[in-house]
Amino acid sequence: MKIQEADAKRLLLAQGLPVPPWEVARSAAEARAAAERMLAGSAQVVVKAQVLVGGRGKAGGVKLASSPAEAEAVAAGILGMSIKGIVVRKVLISPAADIVKEYYLSAVLDRAARRILLMGSAEGGVEIEQVAVERPEAIVTIHADPLLGLQDWQARELAFRMGLGGHLKAAVSIAKGLVRTMLANDADLVEINPLAVVHEDGPHGTAVDQLVCLDAKITLDDSALARHPDLETLRDLDEEDPADVEARAAGISFIRLDGTIGCMVNGAGLAMTTMDLVKRAGGEPANFLDIGGGAKADRVAAAMALILADPKVDAILVNIFGGITRGDEVAHGLIEARAQQHRDVPMIVRIVGTNAAEAAALLEAAHFETAASLDEAAEKAVAASSAEETSRM
Ligand code: GDP
Ligand code: MN
Repeated sequence: MKIQEADAKRLLLAQGLPVPPWEVARSAAEARAAAERMLAGSAQVVVKAQVLVGGRGKAGGVKLASSPAEAEAVAAGILGMSIKGIVVRKVLISPAADIVKEYYLSAVLDRAARRILLMGSAEGGVEIEQVAVERPEAIVTIHADPLLGLQDWQARELAFRMGLGGHLKAAVSIAKGLVRTMLANDADLVEINPLAVVHEDGPHGTAVDQLVCLDAKITLDDSALARHPDLETLRDLDEEDPADVEARAAGISFIRLDGTIGCMVNGAGLAMTTMDLVKRAGGEPANFLDIGGGAKADRVAAAMALILADPKVDAILVNIFGGITRGDEVAHGLIEARAQQHRDVPMIVRIVGTNAAEAAALLEAAHFETAASLDEAAEKAVAASSAEETSRM
């Protein structure tokens, strides 16, 4: 799960990392009021689109303003604009930083190494993917120890190699803070781009250079969210695929794919097997869908609605292995779902296991097409899909 910059910054602050103050505004008027408060202690404010995609700066979603009126105008321009297909609904306002130099620093879960990987570069601000392709030697990497964490000497080496020797203490504390942020929130990624050296006015007319986190991107491990009910509230439903929102609400695991054959299966392993057999029979699955154990008629109906909402689906394969899930419950759900469906899509059903005989009787009475084996079901579904495609040509 991706979270917005403002929420990510809150998680960084909780670990004691240096983040400039900010406010979130949902209207130009709110942006103006926030700018008024911030311009008391700063010459300019920065107004930033809050959307869950990178490259906002390039897309015109990050702008500076020198007065409340200008902040209002800039916010009015950014709110409602579309960045990579996402409409901007809110902006973040911060006192503008006087940037001396931009760096890149991130912590990412390296699954292959089973460790947290820290990546740093003196070439921050720009898209790091581009740096990685063009000049991989400009990126410094170091693995945190799984037991000891990121040790001081490792953090110091990272900082030196990034060219942050002049800000060693701050850089070490930030690198270690990123690892803490990863662990405290079960994050997959904590990325600061730019981590910036900024020029700040000190007391008595002096000036000091500080290292601060100007941007923050955090991705949380969905599978660990059960341990963090407070983080679940950071989910931005505005930016999620409505199908994903519905699937989650119904307790269904659902992943959309590119094919034409909708699959409704119980159990993740069986769902993957079903997709393999559809492919072997020459078809392409339209989705991975696991209705889970003990699914009742209403969940079956919800799953059917999810499958049919995809216009590419021209055949449906239902493959249920009744264990905790009762075959007759699923059959009832299918009959109910078909009565409600707006689109007439051929459906092939295979139900074995608990109450399979009752299910078969129900499906036969309702004139469903059934299959005795999974191979047969996959072949029938692929044939039905091909027939639909031919008739459309
Ligand atoms: P992104 O493009 O979505 O990654 O958004 P960022 O927050 O990283 O902003 C993009 C760029 O805008 C940064 O690399 C900076 O060059 C610039 N920027 C962001 N915040 C400030 C700021 O407070 N002051 C100044 N002068 N520039 C900023
Ligand atoms: Mn950035």
